[in-house]
Amino acid sequence: MASLSLKGIQKVYPNGFQAVKDFNLDIEDKEFIIFVGPSGCGKSTTLRMIAGLEDISGGTLEIDGKVMNDVEPKDRDIAMVFQNYALYPHMTVYDNMAFGLKLRKVPKDEIDKKVREAARILDLEKLLDRKPKALSGGQRQRVAMGRAIVRNPKVFLMDEPLSNLDAKLRVQMRIEISKLHENLGATIIYVTHDQTEAMTLGTRIVVMKDGVVQQVDTPQNLYNTPCNLFVAGFIGSPQMNFMDAVVKVNGSDVTLTVGEHVLKVPASKKKALIDGGYDGKTVVLGIRPEDVHDSESFIANSPDSVIRSKIKVYELLGAEVYLYFDVEGTQMTARVNPRTPLRNGDDAVFALDMEKIHAFDKDTELTIL
Ligand code: ATP
Repeated sequence: MASLSLKGIQKVYPNGFQAVKDFNLDIEDKEFIIFVGPSGCGKSTTLRMIAGLEDISGGTLEIDGKVMNDVEPKDRDIAMVFQNYALYPHMTVYDNMAFGLKLRKVPKDEIDKKVREAARILDLEKLLDRKPKALSGGQRQRVAMGRAIVRNPKVFLMDEPLSNLDAKLRVQMRIEISKLHENLGATIIYVTHDQTEAMTLGTRIVVMKDGVVQQVDTPQNLYNTPCNLFVAGFIGSPQMNFMDAVVKVNGSDVTLTVGEHVLKVPASKKKALIDGGYDGKTVVLGIRPEDVHDSESFIANSPDSVIRSKIKVYELLGAEVYLYFDVEGTQMTARVNPRTPLRNGDDAVFALDMEKIHAFDKDTELTIL
């Protein structure tokens, strides 16, 4: 397998549009890297430059220390799996997987060995004689993976490989891909829109916006310590709640005022607000829905972090409930236990877990805490 290095990678399309700006990333052998970001942020363009399907306008792409910018796609030792897996309909599963190797004039017995090994890994052994139309979506996607595996590439690139599958199959395939990563010890770069795929599959996630990398980190670190307002809002579902809050420093007391609510900042969170000179300024206060509590005991223990509002929407999702309400004209979400007595129209009291708050500079949108 392989390590990759992207140094100052740029993409300017012929119409002058700059889709990727100064992309820097070192990918270690066996890493599972996820590119996420809103539609049009440059994920696929970056992946296609690595594959050699798009020219690189600036910067250097190295695979195992060798510059690859001008190397033909077929000579990069990379396999790409797309969302529309484009199997040959007239060929059996076996022949679909064997096709690329036949073209390369690989000896027949070697092809047979590789196809059967890939079929074993992907649990396709019983389906080798079938044509694609006699397969389910998930099985077809596994054949597409099989086609990539038999080539034994240095790097796998996957562009939303599961987006055409229904929700249940997606979960199954996600587990398959995770196992595959472990079994093959492969270096994988994977593009997705899907939060859950990103959080569960990635060893590291690259969050992009408008062609610019915002943050590269483990799923856990991205969730707990986003570097700016965009990443905080993009990672996590339902998304983090944001509200404007005025900082007040009074001796050693620090409070955040949101409309009529005054929230006391705990000792662990004061320093950044004081040292940053935020006294009297408005910041963006962030709190994840699971850190907004409706339980009586939590509220009783946190009298200085209480927010009152009327429930607008009650959503039961089985194992949890989402409650939607407004604070100072901003919609908020609380993720609470299904035993909650609260329903649409109820006057509700919530307490924020102030140890879990985030704050962002209103101008730069960078994280303060
Ligand atoms: P999605 O999640 O919707 O697939 P993406 O993050 O993968 O989006 P890209 O496909 O990389 O985004 O596109 C990045 C930007 O480059 C988009 O604004 C797109 O419109 C633009 N773009 C893509 N291909 C071309 C092209 N051939 N010429 C000009 N602009 C292009």
